[in-house]
Amino acid sequence: MANRAVSTSRTELLNKYLKLDQQGKIMAEYVWIDSTGGTRSKSRTLPELKDKKYEVADLPVWNFDGSSTDQALGHDSDVYLRPCAVFNDPFRGSPNIIVLAECWNPDGTPNKYNFRHECAKVMEAHAEHEPWFGLEQEYTFLDSDDRPYGWPVGGFPAPQGPYYCGVGAGKVVLRDVVEAHYKACLYAGINISGTNAEVLPAQWEFQVGPCTGIEMGDQLWIARFFLSRIAEEFGAKVSLHPKPIKGPWNGSGLHSNFSTKEMRAEGGMKYIEEALKALEPHHAECLEEYGEDNDQRLTGDCETGSMDKFSWGVANRGTSIRIPRETAARGCGYFEDRRPASNADPYRITRVLMTSIFGKV
Ligand code: ADP
Ligand code: MN
Ligand code: MN
Ligand code: MN
Ligand code: MN
Repeated sequence: MANRAVSTSRTELLNKYLKLDQQGKIMAEYVWIDSTGGTRSKSRTLPELKDKKYEVADLPVWNFDGSSTDQALGHDSDVYLRPCAVFNDPFRGSPNIIVLAECWNPDGTPNKYNFRHECAKVMEAHAEHEPWFGLEQEYTFLDSDDRPYGWPVGGFPAPQGPYYCGVGAGKVVLRDVVEAHYKACLYAGINISGTNAEVLPAQWEFQVGPCTGIEMGDQLWIARFFLSRIAEEFGAKVSLHPKPIKGPWNGSGLHSNFSTKEMRAEGGMKYIEEALKALEPHHAECLEEYGEDNDQRLTGDCETGSMDKFSWGVANRGTSIRIPRETAARGCGYFEDRRPASNADPYRITRVLMTSIFGKV
């Protein structure tokens, strides 16, 4: 029942409590990846460390009820959370922290949905190539009816054209969420490299990178967690589906930019071409790792390549792989794999790129 005596706003009331001292304790938000490709999280209290920030080695292993997330069976439901990366907490502020954790079964095997473990092994085995990744996360905001946010009820907006990098009412929605997310990522220590409004109305993109090796997956997953969490505060849903609306409406990808030490150095184009030759026979294997429902997106239309054929070209957005104009001109740099879907797991993408080019471990 509403309390009619209250004259202060909820925000004011909440702020009264948020200002309270934590008495030498911190809140650690443990985040993990669930069976649906989303994130889950729960909080615990830890002692504040003197003159030192929490690192992975300082953090306790924890657990959760895997039967509630479809990550374990009811009769053996504990799933262990092993901390693997720490970030500043943009929601509660310093000294509170965000802890990314890997999921492990009680028998000491990685949980079915733990794709980080294998990825980390591959990154370590090929570390001498200093692989850099930059992922472009496209996504769509939805309203409570699961319609793209701000779309007219029972109809469609005007055709695509004005929305990409759009400015002005009627062209973009929820810029406040995007701005909040950008700042939250910077505060947390995520290597967010930019953001832009996308081609489909209510669709946006942010980029994370360049990140070395396993950090790519870690940072992108936390950036995704932040986006869902902030959108929750603003009353919007986030869809990572690669084709949220059928028809002449752009889908969402997770373009994956990649380079090695050799590709970035003078004469690197030779290594880029070698990598593309190595990737070609792995086309089907890569697509297995590149997200669900990607066939709805990779039709060859709407700036995509096709599912059946591996192709590449300089500055061409209708191919599997694009070599940026600047890389071609300089003769070294990086390439962009345009195949991954927006809902792909970055650990799976970065792992299969590495194993296709440098071999399995
Ligand atoms: P696009 O032109 O395809 O929209 P974006 O600017 O959105 O590209 O994203 C490019 C991404 O590539 C960024 O995350 C950027 O940090 C990353 N990137 C830049 N240079 C490299 C490199 N040498 N290796 C890997 N990733 C890189
Ligand atoms: Mn309980
Ligand atoms: Mn981009
Ligand atoms: Mn884009
Ligand atoms: Mn791109």
